[in-house]
Amino acid sequence: MLTVEQVSKRYGHRTALRDVSFTAEGGEIIALLGRNGAGKTTLMNILTGYIAMTSGRACIGGHDVLREPLTARRMVGYLPELPPLYPEMTVRECLMYCAALKGIPHGERRKELDRVISLTALEAYAGRLSGRLSKGYRQRVGLAQALLGRPPLLILDEPGSGLDPVQLAQMRDVIRDVGRESMVLLSSHLLSEMTNVCARALVLDAGSLRYDGPMEELTATKGVLEVTYRNGHGISAALSALPGVCRVSALEEDAERIRLALYCEDSAALAAEAARCVLAREGELLALCPQHQGLEEAFLRLVHEEAKP
Ligand code: ATP
Repeated sequence: MLTVEQVSKRYGHRTALRDVSFTAEGGEIIALLGRNGAGKTTLMNILTGYIAMTSGRACIGGHDVLREPLTARRMVGYLPELPPLYPEMTVRECLMYCAALKGIPHGERRKELDRVISLTALEAYAGRLSGRLSKGYRQRVGLAQALLGRPPLLILDEPGSGLDPVQLAQMRDVIRDVGRESMVLLSSHLLSEMTNVCARALVLDAGSLRYDGPMEELTATKGVLEVTYRNGHGISAALSALPGVCRVSALEEDAERIRLALYCEDSAALAAEAARCVLAREGELLALCPQHQGLEEAFLRLVHEEAKP
């Protein structure tokens, strides 16, 4: 349904996206993650038809975003980070205007407005001037606007930005709801905001797609246990096989020492088991260093280390 094939974008000498490929189906809610400048906005802008890619191809529902821009664009609902509203219009007027722009037939607009207003719980605010709304409610109007016409692909840029915890929980509920029929691609640099909503994550780092897989695997790597040893036999394989270890990367490897990072849920709990494992294979244990990191740090470190040659 959404196909992205080797999409690259260059701004002069700067490469903002490099050979990004993935596919997605309706009913998937996908988090697009990465630190500032990773290329998230560039990718979303390409999919919404706002900018053109330098090379590669992207199709939404079989429609090429460059060759059939209008048809492809009709398939997308977009919530930008700062939703543009018309401050002198009420919420309902704003949405009515957007419904007209989106080409929703005249006779269906009222019903469609009621549907999106109810989905985003904006009933009590429908008559308010949009220029007077708080950040959280502006965000909801932006989402309501994106939902108009039931687009099969929803692109949400930082949907949790500026929301308080209650509003954030409500936003998650709405996304879960619409994600049952539409495909949702949402960007965030706060992984923790969306852990319970998205089953799949795409992680961009310096323009390249470093991870495409279950969100669970990212969130399970909150701990890192660094193990340094020398000599012994089969230690690295045995450490990788320990229960609770999600993946292992070599940080240092020479004649003097081997230093490994073991990604796991709970690094302190793993330490004793890892020590026994090294000693049982006649290794000399030089250091054990359990670290607990925030979720954000964990995934950034994961993608960064995987990017090393
Ligand atoms: P953020 O989380 O800060 O919004 P991002 O992941 O959305 O970051 P992009 O805005 O896509 O990242 O930027 C990717 C890279 O492309 C950055 O290095 C940025 O400086 C560069 N870039 C983006 N837009 C332009 C532009 N119009 N001209 C030149 N360089 C640009």
